[in-house]
Amino acid sequence: MRIDIVSIFPDYLGPLRLSLIGKAVDSGTIELHIHDLRDWTADRHRTVDDTPYGGGPGMVMSPEPWGRALDDIRGTTDLKPKLVIPTPSGARFVQSTAQQWSAHPWLVFACGRYEGIDARLAQFYHADQHWDGVAEVSIGDYVLAGGEVAAMVMVEAVGRLLPGVLGNEVSAADDSFSIDDSGELVEGPVFTRPQIWRGLEVPEVLLSGHHAHIVQWRAAQAQDRTEQMRSVDR
Ligand code: SAM
Repeated sequence: MRIDIVSIFPDYLGPLRLSLIGKAVDSGTIELHIHDLRDWTADRHRTVDDTPYGGGPGMVMSPEPWGRALDDIRGTTDLKPKLVIPTPSGARFVQSTAQQWSAHPWLVFACGRYEGIDARLAQFYHADQHWDGVAEVSIGDYVLAGGEVAAMVMVEAVGRLLPGVLGNEVSAADDSFSIDDSGELVEGPVFTRPQIWRGLEVPEVLLSGHHAHIVQWRAAQAQDRTEQMRSVDR
């Protein structure tokens, strides 16, 4: 899968070279390109923002450098990238979004700053036949300073689902939100050695070696934890 990320703080994306995703990049499973939006500015000050029409506080990112950057990145290939614009006002990014995107050959992330990117950018690329649509997505109901952390969250969630990234011994199918078709269930508690730690014992059933009982226990724990942690009354 190819992933491009455009930001005015390309160094912010450094952690994507580490750990699981870093290994996927090193092995070529992910072809990662990180770009500095300012490379597509046209003035001495490398300006990327301007005052908002209609007034109000803050600055808005101009569509001009963004348009040039995205056109250059797509180039002349026949492959259609999907444009991802992180924004708190977008549709919620969830595990099923990560699953769908993990089958996509090419994602391009446009990381906003300030009050966000001029809305015409999404409008234009939504209608551009050279692109496979635009996803304006939020990673949660809070406001970050920029799209970089959101892009990293999404790249990690998508990247770990790519074939070979987790390794054979681990399966994403047992993870929270993948356990059943509802996409709602979270995983129950997990334990490792020692068997007794500070007086606290590992549940007996996990030591029993009885596979069917363990499966049953884990399913019940997943139900309990989902109700406990994610009930609407919390
Ligand atoms: N004025 C915008 C609003 O109220 O919706 C917030 C802009 S925020 C300060 C700047 C940038 O951070 C956004 O353009 C987006 O790229 C990113 N961002 C902030 N919160 C986010 C979230 N919850 N999910 C995804 N991206 C977010």
